Amino acid sequence: MQLVDIGLNLTHPSFAHDREALLTRAYQAGVCQLVLTGTSVADSEQALTLCRQLDETGERLFATAGVHPHDAREWTPGSARQLRDLLQEERIRAVGECGLDFNRDLSPRTQQEKALEEQLALAVELGKPVFLHERDASQRLAEILRHYRDSLTAAVVHCFTGDRQALFAYLDLDLHIGITGWICDERRGSHLHPLVRDIPAGRLMLESDAPYLLPRTLRPKPKSGHNEPAFLPEVLREVASHRGESEEALAGHSTTCARRFFTLPEISAR
Ligand SMILES: [Zn+2]
Repeated sequence: MQLVDIGLNLTHPSFAHDREALLTRAYQAGVCQLVLTGTSVADSEQALTLCRQLDETGERLFATAGVHPHDAREWTPGSARQLRDLLQEERIRAVGECGLDFNRDLSPRTQQEKALEEQLALAVELGKPVFLHERDASQRLAEILRHYRDSLTAAVVHCFTGDRQALFAYLDLDLHIGITGWICDERRGSHLHPLVRDIPAGRLMLESDAPYLLPRTLRPKPKSGHNEPAFLPEVLREVASHRGESEEALAGHSTTCARRFFTLPEISAR
């Protein structure tokens, strides 16, 4: 079984001393390709460096380059230039993480929208897919995306946590949906159980969002308390059971979907 983790924060300091071992554990668990999330210009540069350092084959590690809505207050005219340069790199496969977060509002909303729109324009210009973040802002995000959708190749709402209305608004825009271990959280993720059935094969991808979102159904619980890509099979198990399909079937179509979305190579099983 081969899985693709479409969202891993490998630059996170909690992984600083464990990155190689973490990737070995991921590969052993069947997570054979991973897309590192870039959340600021500096972070995206670091993600690119990690791809090169930790995967000489060029077939396993890839990254996104973008500015997260939390960091949108730091957006300058130079940011678009720097991102454009990064996005020319072979290993960088999508624009993002970008989007809207009206839950934490760490940057003013007007600035979040400006940074998002400039990154969408970059994606259109360069013909790259988009890796989107959204919390408590689905209506506004859908409104903005409507203006760009026809000229965008593809876009995924990563770590989808919204309700049925949000999901259908995104599917109407022909977006992809990323599901994380949020669905394993009985306190706040149970509303996703009936919803994952409505995501068509070919639009559904899986992600760890590690070190965040340790699946709460995981047994035994890891001592570190951190999530890592090796636990992605737990998300697979949970999503497959709520979709009423086998883990093999879900692994098959979500991996094909991720490879298409990020233009990843097929690789042989270990
Ligand atoms: Zn996010």
